[in-house]
Amino acid sequence: MIKVAINGFGTIGKRVADAVAAQPDMEVIGVSKTSVSAEAYIAKERGYPLYIADLSKRETFEKAGIEVAGDVEAMLKAADIVVDATPGGVGEKNRPIYERLGKKAIFQGGEDHEVAGFSFNAHANYKEAEKHQFARVVSCNSTGLVRIIHALDQAFGVARVRAVMVRRAADPDDVKRGPVDAIVLNPATIPSHHGPDVNTVLPHINIVTLAMIVPTTFMHMHSIQMDLKKETTREEVLKVFENHSRIGLVRKATGIKSNAQLREYTQDLGRPRTDLWENGVFEESVSILDGKEFYCFQAIHQEADVVPENIDCIRALMGTVKDPQESIRMTNEALGLVA
Ligand code: NAD
Repeated sequence: MIKVAINGFGTIGKRVADAVAAQPDMEVIGVSKTSVSAEAYIAKERGYPLYIADLSKRETFEKAGIEVAGDVEAMLKAADIVVDATPGGVGEKNRPIYERLGKKAIFQGGEDHEVAGFSFNAHANYKEAEKHQFARVVSCNSTGLVRIIHALDQAFGVARVRAVMVRRAADPDDVKRGPVDAIVLNPATIPSHHGPDVNTVLPHINIVTLAMIVPTTFMHMHSIQMDLKKETTREEVLKVFENHSRIGLVRKATGIKSNAQLREYTQDLGRPRTDLWENGVFEESVSILDGKEFYCFQAIHQEADVVPENIDCIRALMGTVKDPQESIRMTNEALGLVA
């Protein structure tokens, strides 16, 4: 069993912890919090040993009825690998500790590529991970872009990508960021950082991205155009998506045309925390013009799509499962992510 520590038990960390606990070949040996919060109670409820950065706060936790297993360093020492899901920029500060303890670590998209020196996506570069101590799972938007670009690049070759990201303003619980009523250019300059981020995984792709933020909390919406190298048809493209285990087609017959309806659907499916782990590509929007021009809309659940990627990244860095497809299958099966 791979012993996994989760440093930072927030939006991403708590989901990764549950996903680790669901795998047959991994266990959660601890999670960390900096202060008493609802998430600390959830860690207790799930039975995850809770570690804290500053042991002087032990009494505050214990007064709140939350047992403290020790400090973060003790958690890291007991782990084979750490998933760092602390807020963007904190991972960089944590890296020297992982180096000192000789631990493998996975950072999230809020860190720069250089913090890990290797950016990861399970379908695109799983096999390259084994020679690295550190990896970074690219952000939610970049994960969604890499999946669809890589799938079409493998099938038809991608000459260039132009994409517009309409981004959620905040995560659902992030009350300090709202309420908001605006469409904010993010940034007003072109390109946005997403294209260069895609290039950290797929360096050969010609991509330009634009982004704006809108007042919603559930999912980003991408409007994507790609020029393909080979002529194809809409039916062939749909087949590529149907055969991809992390690209889901939002079928025309469902009548779903928004993030709100998709949220209701994932909730009705009984998905934990309404998580949509796969790209939600709107079937109706998939279009091929003049044989080579591809268009679509896709929804990306910001809190969820990086979660299975973190799980595969654990196996890839540890070198325990050599075949990417086997790891992806194991992860999907354990999560209940059916193609
Ligand atoms: P979050 O604020 O929800 O959670 C971060 C957690 O880390 C909190 O529990 C906090 O208590 C804890 N923490 C803070 N400082 C710490 C420290 N010094 N040591 C240990 N724990 C500490 O953040 P998040 O949204 O889960 O984001 C985590 C990372 O994942 C960031 O890099 C972010 O960019 C990336 N990411 C976030 C999303 C998203 O939509 N939320 C999507 C993809 C990637």
